[in-house]
Amino acid sequence: SPATGDSELIVTNPHDGREVGRHSVPTDAQVEEAVAGAHAVAKEAAALPVHVRAEALAHVSRRLAERAEEIAQLISHENGKPILWARGEVSRAVATFRFAAEETRRWSGEVQRLDTEPAANGRLAYVSRVPKGPVLAITPFNFPLNLVAHKVAPAIAVGAPVVVKPAPATPLSALVLGEILAETDLPAGMFSVLPLPNERAAALVADPRLPIVSFTGSAPVGYAIADQVPRKHVTLELGGNAAAVVLADADLDWAAQRVALYSNYQAGQSCIAVQRVIVEQLVYDAFVERLLPAVDALVTGDPADEKTQVGPLVSEAAAERVEQWVQEAVAGGARLLTGGTRDGATIAPTVLADVPHDAKVACEEVFGPVLILQPAASIDEAYAMVNDSKYGLQAGVFTRSLDAAFRANRELEVGGVIIGDVPSYRADQMPYGGVKDSGIGREGLHAAMEDYTYEKVMVLTGL
Ligand code: NAD
Repeated sequence: SPATGDSELIVTNPHDGREVGRHSVPTDAQVEEAVAGAHAVAKEAAALPVHVRAEALAHVSRRLAERAEEIAQLISHENGKPILWARGEVSRAVATFRFAAEETRRWSGEVQRLDTEPAANGRLAYVSRVPKGPVLAITPFNFPLNLVAHKVAPAIAVGAPVVVKPAPATPLSALVLGEILAETDLPAGMFSVLPLPNERAAALVADPRLPIVSFTGSAPVGYAIADQVPRKHVTLELGGNAAAVVLADADLDWAAQRVALYSNYQAGQSCIAVQRVIVEQLVYDAFVERLLPAVDALVTGDPADEKTQVGPLVSEAAAERVEQWVQEAVAGGARLLTGGTRDGATIAPTVLADVPHDAKVACEEVFGPVLILQPAASIDEAYAMVNDSKYGLQAGVFTRSLDAAFRANRELEVGGVIIGDVPSYRADQMPYGGVKDSGIGREGLHAAMEDYTYEKVMVLTGL
């Protein structure tokens, strides 16, 4: 976002550079007020009656639903996300808050009998979960509402204050969420949104009054945060270069449709977009025959158009990087089967074969609409190829074989194995997160509620 001065930032639409909105940049005094407020309200927040938390969460869900079209348009404009996907994101955020409202009512702790040994006769433990303290939520540009929801909803559900630092390119939908939260009965200080530029985020990370840092974004920034504050509780939801495996027994029509769509949805700017498709040799040609027409049929263009499936990347600079990576791969011997062209911030859906092993499009996170095809001689080889990555977020396996499914679950080094679909599948309540360089910890409503709290035991004697 270009600055108009120190105090204001302009948010632009990456499709046409048009101004979408402006927001004032919080001053140091406003940042201090937010952090001090979160710290001061922490005890009160932890003691809030469940019905107050549940009603606040339900209110947010309802208001997001009422304002769904306006917010979807905002996301589409600030991010360049096709309106089709932006509407989907708002529906997911509606569901995330609704589920949090339900889950907070079930969040009661448990009673444990301790008299499993004679020495503990007459003793009982009440085990509750207590917030670790205010949460600093740092979020990326690619799901500017729902990834904020994934941090804010569980924080409110457990009674933890939360300070949100949204991505500089896409702060507007998070600010609307802030407006909606301000309509609730939650105490002042429990929630704030600080749309700060990157260089002012480190001071928030360092602040001891925010003991939990929940970060979603790129691996280099995530690990720099973990190094900066080794004694804080840091959760890292990072990148990937997700693979889909197509085994010989798969439904090839379904697999080709899904891989074509989910290597390009949000212009590939999802941490679980399909970047590599690994196809058993026996069906390789038949799969490619189905894949290429499905990729070419995708509608690319103006994100505001109802029919558009693939819009621009978040910026022209991001598109130039992706274009360069594709060109480097081709210079190294890769074959371009379709796409590869750039128009402003938009990259045409691109498929590459024979990509050199060390090309960036193969081993880094491309975060663009680029798919690489890789044949595998056997299931063993296919699974080894999935694991041949520094990342490990999710993997998809198209198969009808229960045996191949269980083997995938045992062998693939990822946080989630999606059988019968692309790695890009995520239901918002399921535990979600990576292994290897894809991060530390899990999100998904219940997982995040556990993450933000510790178990506290009260032993009752003499019963
Ligand atoms: P990014 O790492 O550039 O920025 C993410 C956030 O970190 C932004 O809010 C940014 O302002 C902030 N930030 C930047 N420098 C910082 C610093 N020094 N200290 C503290 N905060 C700082 O990521 P992005 O480009 O916005 O998002 C894309 C990345 O996010 C991709 O790598 C993608 O895979 C990842 N992602 C992961 C998940 C997941 O759940 N695993 C989901 C979505 C996106």
